[in-house]
Amino acid sequence: MGAILLDGKALAEEIKLDVKRRVADVGTPTLAVILMGGDPASAVYVSGKKKACEFTGIRSLSYELPADTSEDELLKLVDGLNSRGDVDGILVQLPLPKHISEDKILLCMDPEKDVDAFHPYNVGMLSIGQPIFKPCTPAGVIELIKKSGAEISGKNCVVVGRSNIVGKPVSMLLLAENGTVTTCHSRTANLQQICAGADILVAALGKPRFITADMIKENAVVIDVGIHRAENNKLCGDVDFDACKEKAGAITPVPGGVGPMTIAMLMKNCLEARIR
Ligand code: NDP
Repeated sequence: MGAILLDGKALAEEIKLDVKRRVADVGTPTLAVILMGGDPASAVYVSGKKKACEFTGIRSLSYELPADTSEDELLKLVDGLNSRGDVDGILVQLPLPKHISEDKILLCMDPEKDVDAFHPYNVGMLSIGQPIFKPCTPAGVIELIKKSGAEISGKNCVVVGRSNIVGKPVSMLLLAENGTVTTCHSRTANLQQICAGADILVAALGKPRFITADMIKENAVVIDVGIHRAENNKLCGDVDFDACKEKAGAITPVPGGVGPMTIAMLMKNCLEARIR
């Protein structure tokens, strides 16, 4: 293997330890976590977030609502948490059941407590280069790139994917780091050629092992956001890891790359929310 393996699990532990140390100085932040309905994947994510709270010393308040809770009731709950002085951050685990408008719930949240940074106000602040909070997965991507030792400034950065939760904010953060950014999507022509010109390539398209070795530049930094359950029941990403690790300069594995970083960056945002 030629590439440096970017160990997201180890880096996430370092970040959580740092949060834990800083929590001791600033006082205990409180995160309110709302989980609605019985989606097993969401329950797993929420339990991971609660465990990270315990580890870092962040107090977590848990609101588990039945799937038939009305939109009004959920809005009232969020509104109540907005006005509570002892609550620093609010997290509504997505997706929500179909009868609830996610947009309405996000809009109702106090942007200063929106530790996921999904509120349109926070999206706007990110786009003008003054984020209150950086969205967690995209911020984790940037930390991993920095960990590789690569300079972002002036480099050709290619992001494959333009979703609101990953692709676009990753592009914004790379731009803020003075990268020269190309954002690709399903209508992009010459994708292979564009990717092969990238010094830093972020794959967030949601297609298992889509990025092959001929799509990456020799010694590129390759960050794989994708996560899929492969045929053999093992996890894999959007990048053909086995082939690309021979050519890349640094690469994230799946699992153990971007995944663990998301929760670590959430803990960091809870701390920021407390300090504000
Ligand atoms: P979406 O499905 O919302 O977005 C996928 C994006 O990729 C779209 O912009 C789409 O283009 C683009 N795309 C799809 N196919 C192609 C293609 N063939 N060529 C070029 N672009 C393409 O996915 P998300 O952004 O939500 O997630 C992406 C991946 O990251 C998923 O595997 C998801 O599971 C994972 N993920 C991991 C997280 C973590 O590790 N913590 C957190 C969030 C996501 P268009 O806009 O034109 O449709």
